[in-house]
Amino acid sequence: MGSGVRWAAVADQASAVGLAPLSGSSRDVGITGYSLGGGMGWLARKHGLQTNALTAVEVVTADGELRRIDHDNETDLFWAVRGGGGNYGVVTALEFELFPAEELYAGSLFFPYERAHEVMHAWHELVSAGLPDEITTVARVVHVPPLEEVPEILRGKSFTIVQAAYLGTEADGAELLRPLVELGPEMNTFAMVEPAALGYLAMDPDAPLPYASASRMISDVSSVGIDALLAAAGPGSGSQLANVELRSLGGALARRAPGAGARATLNGDYVMFAVGGVFGGPEAEAEVLRQARGVSDALAPWDSGTRYLNFEEGEVDARVFFDADTWRLLHALRTHWDPNGLFLANHEIKES
Ligand SMILES: Cc1cc2nc3c(=O)[nH]c(=O)nc-3n(C[C@H](O)[C@H](O)[C@H](O)COP(=O)(O)OP(=O)(O)OC[C@H]3O[C@@H](n4cnc5c(N)ncnc54)[C@H](O)[C@@H]3O)c2cc1C
Repeated sequence: MGSGVRWAAVADQASAVGLAPLSGSSRDVGITGYSLGGGMGWLARKHGLQTNALTAVEVVTADGELRRIDHDNETDLFWAVRGGGGNYGVVTALEFELFPAEELYAGSLFFPYERAHEVMHAWHELVSAGLPDEITTVARVVHVPPLEEVPEILRGKSFTIVQAAYLGTEADGAELLRPLVELGPEMNTFAMVEPAALGYLAMDPDAPLPYASASRMISDVSSVGIDALLAAAGPGSGSQLANVELRSLGGALARRAPGAGARATLNGDYVMFAVGGVFGGPEAEAEVLRQARGVSDALAPWDSGTRYLNFEEGEVDARVFFDADTWRLLHALRTHWDPNGLFLANHEIKES
């Protein structure tokens, strides 16, 4: 796969032959940036991060050499690019594993926004009780922007939504989600689908839009944590954010696979992502950021220790993404492979 390819191209072709990539919520995201930063998608609890599904990377390093790096060649560099982002060279091609998936049970349960407390608590209880690795699930409070591109049934409306993808049968998937379905959603779209359908599940925009966001990984979240999130983003909070979500982590995301790269795991129970469209000037952006950071700040007591590079879109010291040992090694390898700081990644690995 060439370096500029987006997920849509790969997901459709793979799906046609019963395979799924570890793509994320959007078909429109570039595979390279997503893969180098980690890459958490709908199959993540079963198969882990996309970065660790990479089997080879072709990269032009600062000395001008085109190298094919993998588990046997330039293994230190191969480790660093798998999580260390674009700090080590210009990637010209990626090779990665796809996973068998003829069909999955996936969909959304739409509830009224006003039922956020009941639904989010029920979802949290279900996730906390322990779900199989085969299911990856998201709960979100959503204010759908009133944009032309959005289907009329959703446009300008607010919801509490639970979504999931389950690598298994319809009967087993329905049983796993029964406690939430019994709450009586106003719309239930769960069905057996081909893997390519996962690219539409999150309802991400299919073209770039201006937005601002904040994120945090959290662990040991009690019901108090869910209340804290909803106090910042739920009914009565005044939040205008388009989407505030918790994605369930754990499963393969919590296990360091043999031969994994610098981003071996995502630590915590959930990753929170809060985002709003910026349809105006700097004041509009500042207001979206204030609200998104407000959600993140509300969850600070449950912070799991590191941040997730792909969900961090402001300027931060890149140390926040890694434990101390990983950081030291990534930094040493940056100094070795790019001694003059030629490559300017979105999150630069450098001494602050
Ligand atoms: C709508 C949307 C949905 C998303 N959903 C998810 C999700 O479900 N899961 C998830 O993990 N992330 C998700 N993300 C985050 C996404 O993974 C990051 O924004 C990622 O950086 C996008 O990569 P890109 O190549 O599209 O962007 P770019 O801005 O092109 O690249 C981002 C960075 O990656 C590096 N890079 C890119 N191309 C190269 C190259 N050829 N060589 C070297 N370095 C390179 C550079 O450092 C660059 O600054 C989402 C983002 C959006 C906008």
